[in-house]
Amino acid sequence: MLCDKILEDRDFGHLYIIVNRRAVRYTFRPANDGTPKVGIRVTVPPRYDVKDVVRAVEQNRTQLLSMLQVNQTAKDKKTETVHIDWDFRIETDCLLISFIKGTSQKVLFHKEAAQIDKNMHGEEIILKPAILQFVCPPDFDFDKGDRQALFERAIIEGVRLHAKAQLLPRLLGYASRYGIQLNEVKINSSKGRWGSCSLHKQRTFLNSKKSYNINLSLFTLLLPMHLQKLILLHELTHTIYMDHSPAFHAHLNTWLEGKEDAFEKELKKYTTSIFSFVKKE
Ligand SMILES: [Zn+2]
Repeated sequence: MLCDKILEDRDFGHLYIIVNRRAVRYTFRPANDGTPKVGIRVTVPPRYDVKDVVRAVEQNRTQLLSMLQVNQTAKDKKTETVHIDWDFRIETDCLLISFIKGTSQKVLFHKEAAQIDKNMHGEEIILKPAILQFVCPPDFDFDKGDRQALFERAIIEGVRLHAKAQLLPRLLGYASRYGIQLNEVKINSSKGRWGSCSLHKQRTFLNSKKSYNINLSLFTLLLPMHLQKLILLHELTHTIYMDHSPAFHAHLNTWLEGKEDAFEKELKKYTTSIFSFVKKE
């Protein structure tokens, strides 16, 4: 698609007029052209009238400005990175991560397991979250060399250790409650999904045995407890229904006492990235 005309605009910098043979009306899209103002791409049918396009832009100016606003917010979110320094903190139900000033010239790690109890329904409650502390020299320069990247990796490895210590028994607890046979459970750092479940068929001489493999994202540990439960029970429901059919959701919803939709909605606030959980002042 070639740009037919470029017009100047006081708000958008540039309006790019693009002709599309199949277009029947005007469509407006943000044009991130690298200039300080985000432009607008206007797709128009062949034999369009420039004056009419300008009129349409004028009529829709308010909506177009808010479209660019939404586009910008989404972009800011995507490129969001967090600087790791003394103020970096993660404070979740199950794990606290912080940086503290030490007295030696070495970077030390301090790890403490969570204190966990069970309520009357046999479900885990966290009495005291696990701790992961990085003790750094008092005059430590967080920006020297590739220290930012190294700490990001160290934080992820720390979360992985605590996720193994907490998520595995939590998942196995639910599995044994519902009589589900698991073959293997893995904790990974894959981005984009909280968990997955696959069938593991084992053939022996006499019969074949069905069990399941479950993968969990280590970031699951950083979710509030009730959303961890959503992830764990979601994957366990897949041992009964391998799809996301109405029957699947009905089953999961029973296990979650009718709260699946509410929990799913809340889960949308989080992504499988360490920066999704950093405490913002
Ligand atoms: Zn699923």
